[in-house]
Amino acid sequence: MSREKFELTDDVMYVKGVGPRRAQLLNKLKIFTKYDLLTHYPRDYENHSSLTDICDVDEGETVLLVGHIYNITSRETGRLTIINALLEDDTGYIRLTWFNQKYLLTKLRDGMKLLVIGKAKYDSWSGGFNLNQIQSFTILDEDEEPELGITPIYPSTLAVTQNVLRTAVKNLLASMPRLSEILPEEILSEQRLMPLDDAFRAIHFPQDFLELDEARRRLAFDELFLIQCGLMLIKRQTQDERLGIAHKKNGKLIKKVLANLPFTLTGDQKKVFRAVTKDMESKLPMRRLIQGEVGSGKTVIAMLALLKTVESGFQGAFMAPTEILATQHYEKFSALLEPLGVRVELLSAKVTRSKKMRSEIYEKISSHEPDIIIGTHALIQEDVKFSKLGLVVTDEQHRFGVTQRATLEKKSDVVPDMLVMTATPIPRTMTLTVYGDLDVSLIKELPPGRKPIKTEAKTSRSRKKIYDFVRAEILAGRQAYVVCPLIEHSESEQLAHIESAEEIFDNLSTGIFSDVPCALLHGKMKPRDKDDIMEKFRDGEIKLLVSTTVIEVGVDVPNASVMVVEHAERFGLAQLHQLRGRVGRGSEKSFCILISDSKADFTKARLKILETTADGFKLAEEDLKLRGPGQFFGEAQHGLPDLKIADVFRDVEILLAARDAAEKFITDENLNYFAGLRKNLALAYGEKFNQITAN
Ligand code: ADP
Ligand code: MG
Repeated sequence: MSREKFELTDDVMYVKGVGPRRAQLLNKLKIFTKYDLLTHYPRDYENHSSLTDICDVDEGETVLLVGHIYNITSRETGRLTIINALLEDDTGYIRLTWFNQKYLLTKLRDGMKLLVIGKAKYDSWSGGFNLNQIQSFTILDEDEEPELGITPIYPSTLAVTQNVLRTAVKNLLASMPRLSEILPEEILSEQRLMPLDDAFRAIHFPQDFLELDEARRRLAFDELFLIQCGLMLIKRQTQDERLGIAHKKNGKLIKKVLANLPFTLTGDQKKVFRAVTKDMESKLPMRRLIQGEVGSGKTVIAMLALLKTVESGFQGAFMAPTEILATQHYEKFSALLEPLGVRVELLSAKVTRSKKMRSEIYEKISSHEPDIIIGTHALIQEDVKFSKLGLVVTDEQHRFGVTQRATLEKKSDVVPDMLVMTATPIPRTMTLTVYGDLDVSLIKELPPGRKPIKTEAKTSRSRKKIYDFVRAEILAGRQAYVVCPLIEHSESEQLAHIESAEEIFDNLSTGIFSDVPCALLHGKMKPRDKDDIMEKFRDGEIKLLVSTTVIEVGVDVPNASVMVVEHAERFGLAQLHQLRGRVGRGSEKSFCILISDSKADFTKARLKILETTADGFKLAEEDLKLRGPGQFFGEAQHGLPDLKIADVFRDVEILLAARDAAEKFITDENLNYFAGLRKNLALAYGEKFNQITAN
């Protein structure tokens, strides 16, 4: 058979030793192509690089031994089966102990040659060493020499053994032609990087730990460099003066609205609005991210910026992540702005349900009837055509991907200004990774008069007391949230002990709160029903809202003063911080009670941090450290390739170097170079990326 052309995008099933059946199992590990397998990096390594002579075994050491076994015995004590054997090499012998692995009796035979890894412990009773934490062992043929070296340990499932993965990767590497470089020579030498092909081979099967470090550094650099190049490319498209809009100076409308606000802007709000004003008046398209604490007043900045574009004769779009939020923004905006003659329109799933309604509203938008259009993802549907889109604001940006950002932008022949807002304060290194194409403003200051939210972590033993307290608050005229991690009961072993939102709702609404109007809200409900309940809660008709994290983002009900979070251990710190931001929006003192029965010190420590700090940045940083970026962003589609090897904390220096290199590299002269780089960007980001950045 002739040798087939090797492509990294080939199905993993074609790797020798894999085949269709194993490919299915690998798919579960998100390994679909040869590239996925190549970048399925080990999570750890076993150091099998040198054998120890049995006479040199020392207390507490993890050692790799080769010898012959004899004296295999087994005994039962209670429910425990203990198998013992002696392992002998030319220098001595040592006792091996296996617990509860009775099946081994059918495998082990006197005189067999074994390779064993385990931890040695001195046994004073027998006066010798005992290997009783045997991590793994291999039966060798008499004339077989053990394979030494550093062995990779892959992230895996029960169905896929380490051996299957190791063999698959080995075969892949053996069949893989030498990969060509994707980085230009200058960067390679400047950063003293190992060749790409060597790095891929060494990351799986390194000669030694030095080589492993270098391989990791190279691959982490590439990963971060690709991301940075992607971000620079996206940024670059908009850095064209010819395409930008120079907005007019702030006019009467803005002054009027500022005068009509029931408050004055805080110092931080003023500062941010000045930055936005400057960006918008410049001929270069604005690309700004506002990171602001929960409740720091980002919405009013959005409103002012949208008014600025309206004053200059453009349309403004305001995109929110949920229907609830879009509706809420719409109501606030129209109440304030319609009297001033500004036309505001809501584009949501609700108002575009029928084809007729849809085409009507699209028609209105394209003929510039509304000045400001507020909506959800519905805003970025193909057939929405704006008339002179001047500014796009996206709220709670971490829910929109980079690619979505860019899609919306493409909807205009001029490049609209763009403002994105998030209440997820993330550390700078992370900002550079996820929002590296944006300028960043911070709002740290909260509006005056806010009472801090009192946060307490409790166990379910206090549940009765807690709900009595909630009841007292409700009777005093206030409203409460109860947040649960799951919608419905799960039978899975890990989740079976968790009461779902449905169960808790049933318990509360038929029990202690049977005389109080309660409702259940979760993401699986129809948008119409959700809106309905949210409206009733906001209007005070519903007093107690049992919900999942659908209320996490931005919902503003100032009369709500208590939040109870059930199974608080199931949430991230930043998420809990966002959640509790739903209370404390009015003048009443507010409470957040975190219920958790977790005994883990780790969890207790996390909840403690919430009790004592109200600083979202600090919490986000802790959270990222504790849970890693993948978990932190959860299912949020930030649209960037996952970091498979780089680590935003450990690799700060690599990140900064990669950003520098990318900044220098993405120049006109280098555009020809993109053929190779683009291919890799497409591999990393998916095809979608090419569509967006293609000129
Ligand atoms: P977030 O930044 O979380 O989106 P919002 O914009 O929803 O916060 O603002 C939270 C609340 O604070 C709103 O009710 C808003 O009217 C109010 N607010 C905003 N700015 C100020 C201010 N400077 N002084 C007093 N209240 C303010
Ligand atoms: Mg908000």
